[in-house]
Amino acid sequence: MSETFFGPDFQALQGQDPEIAAILISELDRQRENLQLIASENFTSPAVLAALGSTLSNKYAEGYPGKRYYGGCEEVDKAEVIGIARAKELFGAEHANLQPHSGASANVAVYQAFTKPGDTVLAMSLPHGGHLTHGSKVNFSGKWFNVESYGVRQDNELIDYDELRDIALRVKPKMICSGATAYPSLIDFKTVRSICDEVGAIMWVDAAHFIGLVAGKAIPSPVEYADVVSFTTHKVLRGPRGGMILSKAAHASAIDKAIFPGMQGGPIMSAVAAKAIALKECATAQYQSYAKEVIVNAKALAKSLEDEGMRAVSGGTETHLALIDIRSTGVNGKVADERCGRAGISLNKNAIPYDPESPAVTSGIRVGTPAVTTQGMGAEQMPVIASLIARAIKDGEDEAKIAQIRKEVNALTAKFPVYPA
Ligand SMILES: *Cc1c(COP(=O)(O)O)cnc(C)c1O
Repeated sequence: MSETFFGPDFQALQGQDPEIAAILISELDRQRENLQLIASENFTSPAVLAALGSTLSNKYAEGYPGKRYYGGCEEVDKAEVIGIARAKELFGAEHANLQPHSGASANVAVYQAFTKPGDTVLAMSLPHGGHLTHGSKVNFSGKWFNVESYGVRQDNELIDYDELRDIALRVKPKMICSGATAYPSLIDFKTVRSICDEVGAIMWVDAAHFIGLVAGKAIPSPVEYADVVSFTTHKVLRGPRGGMILSKAAHASAIDKAIFPGMQGGPIMSAVAAKAIALKECATAQYQSYAKEVIVNAKALAKSLEDEGMRAVSGGTETHLALIDIRSTGVNGKVADERCGRAGISLNKNAIPYDPESPAVTSGIRVGTPAVTTQGMGAEQMPVIASLIARAIKDGEDEAKIAQIRKEVNALTAKFPVYPA
């Protein structure tokens, strides 16, 4: 029963606010019963949730350990000091800031630390997998900066480093961003570094999606090459919802000032403590095997979806996510997303490179394996998941068939319980 997961405080909440208590229960049920294939989601440990629900949330701690603007910070200081040390150790970084409220907030700080409004920044094109904060016209980045973009080649759907270099030589960016939300391959950080050096640009890596794989030593790290690495702590990394920034020592003060007082007030100390817990978890042998297994599963899922007649963009994946061109099914991304949702499969529609459809419709879906791998699913389950997805896309108009798929989804997830009571 889901009630028992929440512990004794939950009964008080049920008495005081049954409406919200019921939502907590039904969301836990949803996470347990459905297949969670959204590439940016995961299941944190109960330890991380315990810190998030703790009284550290009550504490104001503007500033940094030992240099706060409020009294009574002795205890929270310890948590932040431990977290910073763990981040530096885990990633081999010279500096770490654990205070960004989110990945987007971390990116606002990066822009602020290295650029002025109107400066030119070069980042991955949004339709080719870049993030909103990489220059979208509806985002601060696109409104306040001149963001130029590079993309992937049409033939192999991999980043075109020659084009990246040509654009960099032409537009002379202050900063070059690598990193994306929907790029299944590894990024050649050494080449990006050499381009940054050639044009005198700051090398910024937005590692939000893949930093957990770096933490688990499953893919190469950008930390030695980049001036600054920003990321979220809640994707493959499996920590609390939030952000983090690593940098070279030379940029430490610029980064810290950009976060506070540059754009945030007090840090969310419950989240800072939860980040410290997640970083300790990431340093374990279990997490390292987890990170490797996430990639093995993503490769198997991409391959199984190809066996179902769909096409994996760039021929497969080297990370935790795959981008699937589903045009062969005759169904677009928007409809596929909606059909899978009704079948209890959470994934998202996603533009594929050079997508003929609009961003609201798309020709693709994005699937990721961080959550199902945390649940313990492996080689045996990936073809089963691919077949459930294929059937949901194909039979989505038939309510009886969708109900049957949903039943099979629930039977599968029941064998891999999340947050066992
Ligand atoms: C998820 C993501 C972000 C934003 O993170 P939020 O915590 O949602 O603000 C930024 N950049 C990239 C590349 C991401 O994938």
